[in-house]
Amino acid sequence: MSHYWTDLVRRLTPYVPGIQRSGAGVIKLNTNENPYPPSQQVIKAIAEVPSDSIRRYPDPQSLQLRESLAAYHQVDIEQVFVGNGSDEILALSFMAFFQGKQALQFPDISYSFYPVYCDLLNIKPHMIALNEDYTIALDKFGGSDCGGVVFPNPNAPTGIGVPVEQIELLLQKNPDVVVLIDEAYADFGAESAIKLINTYPNLVVSRTFSKGRSMAGLRLGAAFASAPLIDGLIRTKDSFNSYPVDAIASAAGIASLQDEQYYRETVAKICNTREITIKKLTDLGFRVLPSQANFIFASPDSSNLTAVELFKQLDEQNILVRHWNKPGLEDWLRITIGTDTEMERFFAAVTNNI
Ligand code: PMP
Repeated sequence: MSHYWTDLVRRLTPYVPGIQRSGAGVIKLNTNENPYPPSQQVIKAIAEVPSDSIRRYPDPQSLQLRESLAAYHQVDIEQVFVGNGSDEILALSFMAFFQGKQALQFPDISYSFYPVYCDLLNIKPHMIALNEDYTIALDKFGGSDCGGVVFPNPNAPTGIGVPVEQIELLLQKNPDVVVLIDEAYADFGAESAIKLINTYPNLVVSRTFSKGRSMAGLRLGAAFASAPLIDGLIRTKDSFNSYPVDAIASAAGIASLQDEQYYRETVAKICNTREITIKKLTDLGFRVLPSQANFIFASPDSSNLTAVELFKQLDEQNILVRHWNKPGLEDWLRITIGTDTEMERFFAAVTNNI
């Protein structure tokens, strides 16, 4: 605390990311990172970035990367935006589209950065309860008091996806507000809404290279939307930071899009390990939600340990998972899917503790 802080800064409750403990023996299943390395082509592209590209500022429009993304997703370059991780794209979208008078709607159990952006940007949040089965109650979204909608698909931390037809219905019923679909985890099985951007001028889809493409450390995200919305994001970005995507991240992103086989293989491995993990935890008596992401949401509700006790015991053994001391979440753990070997160590520890 400092008397130089503005009232706004005093009031903020910043987002707290999962801890980044490292070292031999640490099994990190707490920040939904990919357990496999990035493609070798990405590493090669990084090594080959010319020294001049480091000396100079990068292209403020990131044209090459946006062209690659446009070709990959079969859209126009005017429909693509890139940013410093999808967190930045979310923040810029909140600034560009949600700072109106009416409240921004999002699920009450969802990505905990959304309320933080609302605080920072003075946006009124309207949190809508999940259904009893932990699915998003999309029929309760929209309406005359809605200033916009944001949710992850699949949702985090539940891992449950929403069918694209439901998103389409929401877009049709609410043509005057922006609907932002946060597809950070869409690589792992959920159907993407990118194909709807030509039909719905109020849709923004954000994606990331952090999860399916193992590039969380490079900070690279992309958004897809109608050209006028992308233009709004560009105007906002250019009023804040001309160069959020650096030369190395840009070269790495382009290389990653060129190695489709590696991307598909690693995603398939993670999905396979996820299904094995769900089965094993269910057999141990856990309640586990169906997941379309690279993590699962599990509750040890029929064993003799609470979620927070298990979280602490795992932590003591250097096995990191995520737990939130928040109403509705305290009985659950979010467990990132690691390699098969990491998950075996996780299971050995869980079995010893319950
Ligand atoms: N959306 C959701 C739902 C997430 O869980 C995350 C990762 N914390 C992000 C967006 C942001 O990811 P990144 O900034 O690495 O692209």
